[in-house]
Amino acid sequence: MNTENRTRGLVVVTGASRGIGLAIARDLAAHGYDLLLTHRDAAQAQAERQADLEARAREAGFADSKIIAVHADLTADDAGERIAAAVRASGLPLTGLVNNAGITRDGLAVRMSREQFEEVLTVDLTGPFLLCRALLPIMMRQRRGRIVNISSVVGIYGNAGQANYAAAKAGLIGLTRSLAREVASRSITVNAVAPGFIETDMTAAMPEKARAAVIDRIALGRLGQPEDIAHAVRFLLSDDASYITGQVLEVAGGLSI
Ligand code: NAP
Repeated sequence: MNTENRTRGLVVVTGASRGIGLAIARDLAAHGYDLLLTHRDAAQAQAERQADLEARAREAGFADSKIIAVHADLTADDAGERIAAAVRASGLPLTGLVNNAGITRDGLAVRMSREQFEEVLTVDLTGPFLLCRALLPIMMRQRRGRIVNISSVVGIYGNAGQANYAAAKAGLIGLTRSLAREVASRSITVNAVAPGFIETDMTAAMPEKARAAVIDRIALGRLGQPEDIAHAVRFLLSDDASYITGQVLEVAGGLSI
């Protein structure tokens, strides 16, 4: 129980309506972070999530936590600026940005349309770039900040049927390392988390046979839970990670060993 009720500053989390993003929001709320969450669903659904997150923060002793919601499709041209404006309007110090929102549009490359390729690039790579570009000036002025980009093991090792997604997630690693170099002098760190196979809507459609084959390759013998990713993200956002930048942290149960 935190007796001081002092929050740890504002973290922007994209795609916090479900899956890994929601787990990150829940975990950060319970650990004293103010949150600015992006969502695309109805106001009522967001209000229910917000009440749940505020209750988690209160239970953990952070009665003053602020949970702010911004309705934003990250493919919209003005999304970055609208989110940056909401951060400024909050008056809260900007502790971090978690670029979590992402999509898949799977198919073999020879049959993949240009639209199918570019749609994934737009959401999974251009979206994070535009949001970094919009929020970095705030972090640079503060001379502190943390960016965590949610990449994927697929961006490191590739995956048949996911040329678009692998290209976007590999691109996100390149973006992470380049930004890390550009902003290190301002004490801003930029890292990526590369989840393996995590139980969310994104992996729910996997046929049973494919799921069993994947589990066979995971040293820890199970798919990951969204909370496994949330814990790694919270570490990279924390002061304990202040000497880590430009890194890719695989959270995949030993998929690659
Ligand atoms: P998910 O359950 O499908 O959730 C995706 C989230 O992204 C949702 O909140 C969704 O909002 C949001 N989103 C998608 N397109 C958006 C857009 N154009 N604008 C704004 N928000 C948008 O996915 P997940 O499994 O939690 O994945 C989260 C991240 O982890 C993704 O970047 C994914 O690539 C990465 N990842 C996942 C796995 C895995 O095994 N699950 C593995 C490696 C990496 P709506 O609810 O409005 O659709």
